[in-house]
Amino acid sequence: RDQDHPDYDVVVVGGGPGGSTVAALVAMQGHRVLLVEKERFPRYQIGESLLPATVHGIGRLLGITDELTRAGFVVKRGGTFRWGNNPDPWTFSFAASARFAGDTSTAYQVERMRFDQILLDNARRVGVEVWEESPVIDVIDEGDRVVGVSVTTDDGTTRDVRARYVVDASGNKSRIHSRVGGRRRYSEFFRNLALFGYFEGGRRLPPPNQGNILAAAFDAGWFWYIPLSDELTSVGAVVRPDALDRVRGDREAALAGLIQDCPLIAENLADARRVTSGPYGEIRVRKDYSYIQERFWRPGFVLVGDAACFIDPVFSSGVHLATYGALLAARSLNTMLAGRLDEDVCLAEFEARYRMEYTRFHDFLVGFYDMHQDEASYFWKARKVLGGAGASDLESFVELVGGGASGEDALVGAGSYADRNQAAFQELADIVGRPVGQEGEDRDLLGAALVKAVSRSGLHIQFQAAAGGNADERTPVRAGGLVPSADGLHWSSRQPSTDGS
Ligand code: FAD
Repeated sequence: RDQDHPDYDVVVVGGGPGGSTVAALVAMQGHRVLLVEKERFPRYQIGESLLPATVHGIGRLLGITDELTRAGFVVKRGGTFRWGNNPDPWTFSFAASARFAGDTSTAYQVERMRFDQILLDNARRVGVEVWEESPVIDVIDEGDRVVGVSVTTDDGTTRDVRARYVVDASGNKSRIHSRVGGRRRYSEFFRNLALFGYFEGGRRLPPPNQGNILAAAFDAGWFWYIPLSDELTSVGAVVRPDALDRVRGDREAALAGLIQDCPLIAENLADARRVTSGPYGEIRVRKDYSYIQERFWRPGFVLVGDAACFIDPVFSSGVHLATYGALLAARSLNTMLAGRLDEDVCLAEFEARYRMEYTRFHDFLVGFYDMHQDEASYFWKARKVLGGAGASDLESFVELVGGGASGEDALVGAGSYADRNQAAFQELADIVGRPVGQEGEDRDLLGAALVKAVSRSGLHIQFQAAAGGNADERTPVRAGGLVPSADGLHWSSRQPSTDGS
């Protein structure tokens, strides 16, 4: 088959959240999509703490919101941090931002073996052809253009598959990304190492925060403590480069020693035992995971997820960046395959928006690693990174760490923005109406943000009413840029008209 008659419109390499999302969102538009995955699912992966933007925004576009609810994952209201110069833990809730109001103000803590399986099965259901146990060996190019992949299938034979576009969503360890050209730039700032395992019988935070991620800083770095079920907890130490001698030698002893040095984690694990068999039985190490590619695409070839970039585990941005990048890539592919706009225009928009979201997290996280500050100054830093417009410091922080800072309606769940803001009014009013203490320790933080959030929401609703449409997505994020179509799944070069057509 030649390039005028390719086997598929799109071949996606890798079946993690990035790959399954882009494959499904393109197949749902009627295009022929093949996804090739090296492993047989379910397979282990780290990255268990999710953001509302993934669960509600991407989940709704994929049509899996109800399935995720039925899966019974631990509900994450926000995060609890022993961090910075405040000796006491502090808590934030996603509900503190009007962008995540009502039933979109939570996320999940997931066992990735189950979560990734749901996304891959959903891709199959909407028409993606999936080959498991089929590693891609290399991409095929003709001139500057990628025209397909060379793949070894589960019967051991290697064959060439031709496609109009190839998406590399093969994660951190694969080498396929190098074929985009340019270098992978490793961070000078984030040079940590992670050492992690699983425990049964760990304690839980008091309600309503029992599903929160707990992050606890200590001398050598910080710990994550993620409840994956009533019984199972994911526990990992992120160790600074100057403390790497703490993790040499026996991993079991190293993890136990680090836990003893972090009183909050040691307390929570006082009655727990480490899981020593099955997929959770291993103590794993990850390093060299903070990088960004110099290029995100070349003709016929697009990088998504860890293939393109990853920053750091704190604030759980990995799956968000992977699925948001997948959405941006899917919009581009759907627009190009429909012949509506040129490849360089679409993929420049993909890359610009993807880099903007990466940069927001990156710049905020650099400041967050300064342990001499308190939470008020972290919130202020978030507002600064977002440009300081409108929202309070706390609301800016929650908007950013919930994955909603791009301002994209597609990422914040069902209904119009005006509807959600109405729900926000109600939710904030309800919370303030409750007796002190009922909401846990974050009630005061929320109360402080309330007045500004409500007035901002009110203004927004009035503006929406005057404009008669989706005011957020009429303005490109850069001069001459594209805007998402009304369904969120294509690009449009013109601003949508007020009747939504
Ligand atoms: P992956 O999930 O890695 O999927 C890639 C897939 O491609 C795999 O299934 C792989 O088998 C397949 N593949 C590889 N090579 C080939 C090939 N040649 N051919 C075919 N298939 C191939 N993120 C969060 O959101 N929350 C967290 O709490 C979090 N914690 C983290 C902690 C640590 C220590 C680290 C290092 C990362 C963490 N992350 C977290 C990041 C998260 O793990 C990743 O960002 C996320 O898994 C990326 O998804 P992906 O779809 O790009 O890639």
